[in-house]
This record gives sequence, C-alpha cells and structure tokens, in this order.
Amino acid sequence: MIQRRKTRQIYVGTVAVGGDAPISIQSMTSVPTVDIRAVSHQIRRLEEVGCDIVRLGIPDEASAHAIAEIKKHTRLPLVADIHFDYRLALLCIQHGIDGLRLNPGNIRQKEHVAAVVKACKERHIPIRIGVNAGSLDRNRYPHPTPEALVDSALTHVQILEELDFFDIKVSLKSSDVPTMVEAYRLFATKRDYPLHLGVTEAGPLNQALIKSGIGIGSLLLEGIGDTVRVSITGDNLEDEVEAARIILRSLGLRREGIEIVSCPTCARKEFDVARTVELFQQKTRHIRQYLRVAIMGCVVNGPGEALEADLGIAIGKSAAIVIENGQKTPLKIPHPTPQSITEVLVKEIEKRIQNNKGKL
Ligand code: SF4
Repeated sequence: MIQRRKTRQIYVGTVAVGGDAPISIQSMTSVPTVDIRAVSHQIRRLEEVGCDIVRLGIPDEASAHAIAEIKKHTRLPLVADIHFDYRLALLCIQHGIDGLRLNPGNIRQKEHVAAVVKACKERHIPIRIGVNAGSLDRNRYPHPTPEALVDSALTHVQILEELDFFDIKVSLKSSDVPTMVEAYRLFATKRDYPLHLGVTEAGPLNQALIKSGIGIGSLLLEGIGDTVRVSITGDNLEDEVEAARIILRSLGLRREGIEIVSCPTCARKEFDVARTVELFQQKTRHIRQYLRVAIMGCVVNGPGEALEADLGIAIGKSAAIVIENGQKTPLKIPHPTPQSITEVLVKEIEKRIQNNKGKL
C-alpha cells in the first residue's frame, strides 16, 4: 500500500488536488485556442475518456477571449498556460478560467504579479508554477540539474508566498527521467504544495509511454505526486489519458476502466488473441468502472491463468469457455471469432454495470 505524501489541498474548479484527493489526470489541447470549435471538440474527447483537468495554451489576447466561449461547452476545469504576459492572465481570469500555469518570476513588474495574485485570490484560482529543464535561465543555471530545477521553482514560489498566496501547485519537468525524478524528490523535502508530475518532451507514443511510466510511476510509488500528465507528441489525447489511468491503476492508486489480462500467446495458442484483445479494447475504452478481464489463448492453461480475473475467457479452436469470478460458467461460445468473443464479453460487462454487481 502506497503511503502518499501529505500535501496542501487546492481546487482547480471543482477538482481537488492534493491532500487526500484522488490523483487527477490532466492533458492539454493541441489546436489553436482561438479555434473554439476544434478546441471544444478536443476537450470533449478528453472528457469522454475521463480526463479531469484540461490545459490550454494562451499565446495572445484572442486566445484569452476565447476562454469565455470554450467554458460554455464543458464542465471540465480549464487551466490557462501563460508565459510572461500578466494581461493575458487577467483576461483569462475575467473570462472564467479555473487555474493558471504561470511562473511569476517571468513577469518583470512586481505590481503586475500582485494584480494577478489579487484576481486569483478573489476567485479562488490556483497557480501552477511549471519549471522545465529546457526553459531554465542558462545564465543562472548553466546545467539543468535537479537542484537547478528546484531552486528555480522555489524562486517563483517565494514570490507568491511573499504576496500571501498559497494556492500553488508545482511541476519540475525534464525529458531526462532521472533528473525529473530527483527534482521532484528534492522539492518534496522543501514544501508541501501539491505536485503535478510529468516527463516533458517525452517523444512519440512508445517512448513517451515508457519514459512516463518509469518517471511518474517511480515517484508515485514513493508517495510523491497529486496530479499527472503523460505527454505524447501529436494528437494522442485519448492515449495520454489512458496511459495516465493505467499508471495509476497499476499502482492501485485509482481503480478505473477495464484492466485486460491477456496472455502473450505461445505455441499452444489456438486462436487470434491479439486481434481479439485489440477489438475488445476498442469497444471498452469508454468504460470507466473498474473490471479485470482475462483473455487467454488456449483451453489448457488459459482457465487457470484467468482465475484471478472478474471475467475471463479461454479460447480454443472449437469453443471458448467463460469464467466469472474465478469459476467456470456453463456459458460456451462455439466456433469463436474475435467479434463473437468481444460481443459476449461486452454484453457481460454491460450486464454487470446494470446490476452494479461484483466490483463494478
Ligand atoms: S494461455 Fe495458453 S496460449 Fe496463452 S500463453 Fe498460456 S499456454 Fe500459451
């Protein structure tokens, strides 16, 4: 059982972050924020797969003004990602944004920072300080070490603390996994603000999944982390959310969605397990309730290996056996195909959801 680090709790809209709140999943839109239709479509996609908080880039005034309209199309809390320009932060606040990602040390005039902090206080809007190895001031920090990342974050934190502002969340991202892990560990010894975990610029899908799994997963195992984002190059919104959910589920920190236990297949395989798993995954991606489903490729070892699952299937050449809560059922699927197997499993899952049975 993971003992989570005790952190201060903040709210991003209605979503609690830190304290005893469940670890939330975040993602970010990848289309121009001024394109309200496209951005709302991406937010809807994220909402459908269970994202908790969405961040949007705000590069200019038009993007800040678009927030008002975008807010009408979603119930998810939105965070404005702003660099340098305090006026954009004020505009987003005025238009109903739920959180800011802003480094106050990058705003030159103290009174401008104070104006943003005052507006945030009035509307209970938190600020995430986001330090990235790639954007550290190289004059001050010639090498993006964990110590440099933490020192930079603390400089920003102190500016807010001096203004009596504590609704803070912090991220210390790097594309280098050991650097990112060490930076978060070190920061966790300095302050109790909730931490947003992520490996930045993690690359294409396969690389991003592994780097994020190692980086985010290592910290979560140590009890560090209150909200996470898996970042993947390109329009991989569903994958980002699903990967984050799988990391959390694998560590027992959030039990959501269908966990597939499928065999790797071997010489005993009597069926196209890979195609069945692929099809089943497509059809169940939207399901949020937790269920462990085993899909095994033979009737010799399959039933034994499926016993730990809530629902399992062992597929032979001429028939498939269905297993429920560790027990073989009389239900058999003759002449199975990937489609017929998927249909039976989905129907069984839907039945369970309706009956609110077992672990659902
Ligand atoms: S369930 Fe059967 S096919 Fe799959 S790995 Fe085990 S023995 Fe091989």
